Amino acid sequence: MDRLTNVTVVDPRDGTTTAHQDIHFADGRITKIGTTAGPHPDAIDGQDRFVVPGFVDMHAHPLNLADPAPELGLMLAFGITGFRQMSGTPDLLRHRPDTTDRTPALLATPGPVLTPINAGKPATAVAEVQRQARAGADFIKAALITPDVYYAVQAEADRLGIPVVGHLPAGIDVRAASRAGFRSIEHVGPQLGVLAGCSCHEDHLRAASSGNPIPAPPFKIPFADRIAGKLLQRIVINPSQLTTPATLAAVRETIDTFDEDKARTLARQFADNDTWNCPTLIRIKAQQLCDNPTFAADPNLRYATTKERKAWTRAAESFHQKFTEAQRATFTEQFDLQKRMVKILAEEGAPLLAGTDAVGAAWVIAGASLHDEFDLLAESGLTPLRILQTATTDPARFLNREKTAGTVSAGKEANLVLLDADPTTKAANLHTISAVIRAGTHHNKEALQSLKAQATNR
Ligand SMILES: [Zn+2]
Repeated sequence: MDRLTNVTVVDPRDGTTTAHQDIHFADGRITKIGTTAGPHPDAIDGQDRFVVPGFVDMHAHPLNLADPAPELGLMLAFGITGFRQMSGTPDLLRHRPDTTDRTPALLATPGPVLTPINAGKPATAVAEVQRQARAGADFIKAALITPDVYYAVQAEADRLGIPVVGHLPAGIDVRAASRAGFRSIEHVGPQLGVLAGCSCHEDHLRAASSGNPIPAPPFKIPFADRIAGKLLQRIVINPSQLTTPATLAAVRETIDTFDEDKARTLARQFADNDTWNCPTLIRIKAQQLCDNPTFAADPNLRYATTKERKAWTRAAESFHQKFTEAQRATFTEQFDLQKRMVKILAEEGAPLLAGTDAVGAAWVIAGASLHDEFDLLAESGLTPLRILQTATTDPARFLNREKTAGTVSAGKEANLVLLDADPTTKAANLHTISAVIRAGTHHNKEALQSLKAQATNR
């Protein structure tokens, strides 16, 4: 194929649509876009469908799998043409997979995430940052570090010109972290991270939520990264399972003392400091509402492996057993507040990214989960256009790839999604995928079905 004819091009920057267009490709790039010239032997007829840039999942972990092919195929089948890998290994940095037109592109990856195992003290953390920067990490991901370690990490990362993203350190002042340059906050915190900064009991909540679940080891452990990796894998299915009654009381207090003006001021500060949020609402919901029966009834569960389905069902059962009805109601209210916060972030112009935490997390299915995220962003009150942006123009800006990605324009990478219905009028129309073009290669509906079939009954 060297061209796609008769399509409506959607500009995700402002939502304008231009009908009856031909898009020409060469060497994986868009070479020209213009008014439809009629049928052509080497062309695919777009039949008036809507063309948007390929979606980017800005928080995913497919490359932690020994064989990620089925998950990468699923991602492509659901319109994802690129992703940000959120946990790395020295091996991954050494042998970055050559992405092909059959898989979404690996757009950025960190080295091993920072935990007390590899970053328990400022000096060890700084050495780890230096090691990862030398090994070619695109960014540093903080997971379970203390505020003093974070500030040392941020200073060293600034010196080396590498961004720091991830989980806000427990008990940190979110405004101070934003000012210091924390580049993207994942999962609205997680836990109380962002919400605590919107409470009129902020100081008390910060004190209540400090402290690390894993203490730093007193000496250097051999194979520390592998040990940390195993440990995280076990926690990762549903970290909410570890929530203590004291933390739940702090969650309750956060909900009861939420101050909308404070939240808006914080959101404007994120906008001013270019502090991004990748809320991963589907991940938060799957954690905090783990026993919600809609998860077990999701038809997309057929794309999860048998082992995953068993582990996720077990996670839902133990969540249901561990927490009382009142505690589970608090988790639900927390989720409602997290969605309200996402709407405030959008309204105040704070930058946002669509992400899922797919692969490893309970009920979060590779590919399909980005569409769950679209639905939850819509449920939060974001407009269809704003939602489209979080998976297209926003990732391009965040990753400094605006020259080659983010819009359907000449000179950009030919990574596109063809939709049956207009995504600027209804977010649900983002689900109506009829074809995906990855690096100029056209994957029609049958090809996408076959990728899904390869991930079924595993
Ligand atoms: Zn993650």
